[in-house]
Amino acid sequence: MKVKNFDFQKNIGKFVVYTVFFLMRDRGIKVIDYPSWRAGEQGFLVVGGPCSVESAEQMNATADALRGNISILRGGIWKPRTRPSSFEGVGEIGLSWLVDAGRSINVPVMTEVATAEHVEQALQAGVDMLWIGARTVVNPFSVQALADALQGVEIPLFVKNPVSPDIHLWLGAIERFEAAGLTDVVAIHRGFQDVAPQPYRNAPRWELPIELHHLRPDLKIITDVSHICGCRKLLQATAQRSLEFATDGFMIEIHPNPDAALTDAAQQLTPNDFKKLLSNLTPLKRGSKEQQLSELRSEIDNVDSELLHCLRKRMEISSQIGQFKKEHDIAVLQMSRWEQVLSSRLAQAEKIGLNPQMVKEIFDLIHKESIEKQLKTELP
Ligand code: PEP
Ligand code: MN
Repeated sequence: MKVKNFDFQKNIGKFVVYTVFFLMRDRGIKVIDYPSWRAGEQGFLVVGGPCSVESAEQMNATADALRGNISILRGGIWKPRTRPSSFEGVGEIGLSWLVDAGRSINVPVMTEVATAEHVEQALQAGVDMLWIGARTVVNPFSVQALADALQGVEIPLFVKNPVSPDIHLWLGAIERFEAAGLTDVVAIHRGFQDVAPQPYRNAPRWELPIELHHLRPDLKIITDVSHICGCRKLLQATAQRSLEFATDGFMIEIHPNPDAALTDAAQQLTPNDFKKLLSNLTPLKRGSKEQQLSELRSEIDNVDSELLHCLRKRMEISSQIGQFKKEHDIAVLQMSRWEQVLSSRLAQAEKIGLNPQMVKEIFDLIHKESIEKQLKTELP
C-alpha cells in the first residue's frame, strides 16, 4: 500500500516504533502535596480553585471535583476590582467556606491578603497559607505594613510579581517578608502589564522569572497561568511553555461553572478541563537541552518585539516629518539627507560588528516605506 510518498510495507517497522514511542511519551505531571514539594520531592505544586469565593456550595463543589488533583485550594475573599461598581468579594464570611472546603478534601487553603486586617481575619479563620497580589507588590508601603503584620507568624507566603515588569520590586517584596522572619516564601509569576501584552492579558516576559531564578536559585517559582492568559484557549500552551522555563508548579483558576463566575469568568476552567490540561502536559527535564534552547528563543522573541516597537516609533516620527514638509512646502525626498543617514548607519554598523550589506538592505526598505508614507501624508 502506498499513500502519497509513504510506503507502508517498507516503513512499517519505523511506523510502529514511532507510534509506540509517541504513545509512551511521558505525559501529564505529578501533583504532590506541599510538604513533599518543599522537601524537594519530584513533582509539581498545583494551587487550584476559583478566582473568588462566592458561596459555601460553590466551594464544596469545587473542592469535591478537585479531590486528589490539587496541592492547595485557592479562593479570593477580598476582590476590589479596577472600578468600584462590580462584585468586590464576599469578605470575611467566605473564609469559613474556603477553610471547610479545603478540610473536606484534606488540602491546605490559601487566600490573598492586602492589609493587616485581612491577615488577622485570615489567620483567625484558620487559613493555612497566604498570597500577596500583584497590585499590592507594586507598593513598598503596603508590603512593609503586611510584613509587619506577619512578623513572627510561621506561614507559607506566596508573593506574586508586581504588575509592572520590575524584577527588583518583586525581589524587594520577597526580601521584606524574609526580613520579617518568614522562612517559607514562594514566588508566583503571573505576567506583567506591558506595551504589547497581546494575545495575553498580562505579558509573560519569561526572561523576568528566569532572571529571578538566577538571582535567587534557592527560591521556588510557580506560574499563575490564569492571570497571564486571561482566556481559556491560551492556558494549555502557556502551561507547557512555563514547563520549558522550569516552573516548580502552577496556580490556576477553576470554577464549577466558569461562565457564571462573578470574577474572571473568561479565564477559569471547569474541573474536568483542568484535569485534561494537566494530563496533556509533557514534563521536561530541568536544565535539559530543550529548556536551554527555550530560554534563548525567549530572548530572541523579546529582542524582535523591541525591534518592531522601534520600527513603529520610527515610522511615526517619519509621518510627523511628512506633515511638517507638507505644511512648509518642502520636497519629500532630500537626497543629501538620505546619503548622510545611510553612510552614518553603515559606519555605525561596521563599528559594532554588523554586516554593512545587511544593514544597507534593511535601511533601503525602511527608507522606501518612509518615503511612501510621507508622499501619502494629508494635511490635518
Ligand atoms: C488572583 O489571583 O485572583 C488575583 C487577583 O491575582 P493578581 O494579583 O495576579 O491580579
Ligand atoms: Mn482572578
